[in-house]
Amino acid sequence: MKRILVLGAGGFIGSHLVTRLKNSGHHVIGVDLKHPEFSPSNADEFVIGDLRDPNVCEAAIKDEVDEIYQLAADMGGAGYLFTGENDFNVMHNSALINLNVAHFAIQSKIEKVFFSSSACIYPQVNQTDPNNPNCEESSAYPADPDSEYGWEKIFSERLYHAAQRNYSLNVRIARFHNIYGPEGAWNSGKEKAPAALCRKVAMANQEDSIEIWGDGTQTRSFLFIDDCIDGILKLMESNCTQVLNIGSEEMVTINRLAEMITEYSGKVISLNHIDGPIGVMGRNSENTLVAKSIGWAPKVSLSEGLLKTYQWIEAEVVKLKVCSN
Ligand code: NAD
Repeated sequence: MKRILVLGAGGFIGSHLVTRLKNSGHHVIGVDLKHPEFSPSNADEFVIGDLRDPNVCEAAIKDEVDEIYQLAADMGGAGYLFTGENDFNVMHNSALINLNVAHFAIQSKIEKVFFSSSACIYPQVNQTDPNNPNCEESSAYPADPDSEYGWEKIFSERLYHAAQRNYSLNVRIARFHNIYGPEGAWNSGKEKAPAALCRKVAMANQEDSIEIWGDGTQTRSFLFIDDCIDGILKLMESNCTQVLNIGSEEMVTINRLAEMITEYSGKVISLNHIDGPIGVMGRNSENTLVAKSIGWAPKVSLSEGLLKTYQWIEAEVVKLKVCSN
């Protein structure tokens, strides 16, 4: 049994990770600004604290911890990251968290640290063709992400690697590609495309239309939360110090994603394309290196994961309607 610290344990991926680590018999300590929104945390200890504050970070890391999973970040979907309105907070808040975590992890000689980077680090120039984006790990440089969120992730990848080089901090880094599933943000303004579309469809009446940002021909791949947790744990168990993609290679257009969700709902819904933040035109995970290095591949198809997510959001919408009546 290890003592494991999960930073960002009140968030979507962090709360699922806490549950999995607990189920594997570890003692888990969570830190976040907030408790998980949709069900109580399974952590043994849960600290409400701001990791931008060095004192909070130091206290958590000094607590005889074996491993750290660093998932805390100021983040959200396209409506949060690509409008430009949150750029300073996204960079400043997440950079401060990572500067603190790296520093105190070195001081406390933590055995292993996981850092969650993002597909948003990949250069925009390689993601202009919706049918043929290039997100191979080696294509990250010369760097040119399309958001300040991506630039902060690049900075923090380099920060953790520098800690590894200069202070022998044992670091594992994954670049997540659009993780989705039950108990993720769906109506807070921080939700991503799958949850936002599930919400719009679940709230729509028969024969309504729902709004789609852009013309919907932009492509993405989406990874179900259970596969993401498998990938994180496999990477942490491995000796692989290279940065790896953790994503799905099942690329779809946003229009197709909306159609799939509409099919689950049984409603007849049309798509109304409007202007909005869309990010790059194409993005897909490239899993050659991750398969070769740690033998990980996703197991859950988009249709299976999306149906589970739609059913969960539909139930949340019903709860909301009951509460407001
Ligand atoms: P999330 O927003 O649900 O979780 C992040 C958590 O960090 C939140 O609970 C938030 O309260 C917490 N946090 C933010 N600032 C904090 C602070 N100052 N002190 C303490 N806690 C703070 O996001 P998520 O989807 O669970 O993502 C987890 C990590 O994975 C993030 O680093 C994110 O950038 C990365 N990531 C996620 C995706 C995705 O598709 N979900 C894709 C790429 C990368």
